[in-house]
Order: sequence, then structure tokens, then C-alpha cells
Amino acid sequence: SNDYRVVVFGAGGVGKSSLVLRFVKGTFRESYIPTIEDTYRQVITCNKNICTLQITDTTGSHQFPAMQRLSISKGHAFILVYSSTSRQSLEELRPIWEVIREIKGNEEEFPIMLVGNKCDESEAREVQSAMGEGQAKAWKCNFMETSAKTNHNVKELFQELLNMEKNR
Ligand code: GDP
Ligand code: MG
Repeated sequence: SNDYRVVVFGAGGVGKSSLVLRFVKGTFRESYIPTIEDTYRQVITCNKNICTLQITDTTGSHQFPAMQRLSISKGHAFILVYSSTSRQSLEELRPIWEVIREIKGNEEEFPIMLVGNKCDESEAREVQSAMGEGQAKAWKCNFMETSAKTNHNVKELFQELLNMEKNR
């Protein structure tokens, strides 16, 4: 089918919903709105075809394991978000990465992007860019730093995922 399903994972509060809303609606809020699970659809052109980009914004670590496995099975690409202000939020991504690899195998046809969000918070930074890059290398995935607040690299993040899809 012409559906391209992207699933966004990460601990609570790292900015998953903010990144998705910034991309889909162009908005940003300072307040924290707990997410159940939301899917956004956008019609785009890829490879000169019309296709539907489907972005699933998950609840983070409180997601039921069965639901998590289901969204992984159905997903074509994954965004693993941590906050550059929290080293723990990076560590919390490991079990998710392991489950994705277990379900999808090692193939590169299911792109994973490791994302260090809140890169605008330079005073509160706990995870240096080099550390995020190193983790991405170890996990054989791509890496990007973003800010949903300033809109830094948000369009680029989704564009890059689509490019990874084209190249497969
Ligand atoms: P989620 O639980 O991962 O979906 O996180 P949210 O998107 O709800 O964001 C949690 C909090 O972080 C909210 O108060 C947001 O305003 C804030 N936030 C999200 N992205 C950024 C960012 O890039 N920079 C800054 N400074 N704050 C952000
Ligand atoms: Mg959320």
C-alpha cells in the first residue's frame, strides 16, 4: 500500500507530541499534555507517488507492552526521542530499541532515527551531541538534534526519514 507509517517512541516529557504537532500543525505549547496514543495522517508525494504519511505519537514508557509490539509490527520507520536535558531519557530508549530489533530484525529497511530534542536548552544540557552520535553509531541508526520549541530540524527530521525510505 502507499502508507508510510512512522512511530514515535521515548520517555514521557521528552517532546514527542511537541515534535509531531510542530510538524503536522506548526504549533508549539509550553504546557505538558499527556498523550494516550494519537495518529496523524498527511498526504504527501514520495517517489512521484501520492502516499499517506501516518505518524503515531505514543505514550512513552507507560505504553502497554502488547500495544508497543503492535505499533512496532505495523511501523515502517521509528523515531526514538530523548531530551538532551536528560541522560536518563536516553538510557530509557534502550529497551525500545531492543524490541524494535527483535521484531524487525537488523535490516536497514526499517529506518530508525535517534533524536536529541530540546537542543535549545543549552544551559540544562546533560547529553552532549557526541554522546548522542555515539549511541546512534552503536545502534546503527541515524541521528539528529531538534527543538520543537524553536522549530530547529523538525521538517528535516521527517524529510530525512522519507529519504531513507526512498533509498531502500
Ligand atoms: P511527550 O511526553 O514526549 O509527548 O512531551 P511533550 O511534547 O508533551 O513535551 C513535554 C514538555 O516539554 C512540554 O512542556 C513542552 O512544552 C516541552 N518541550 C517539548 N519540546 C521542547 C523543546 O524542543 N524545547 C523546549 N525547551 N521544551 C520543549
Ligand atoms: Mg506526548
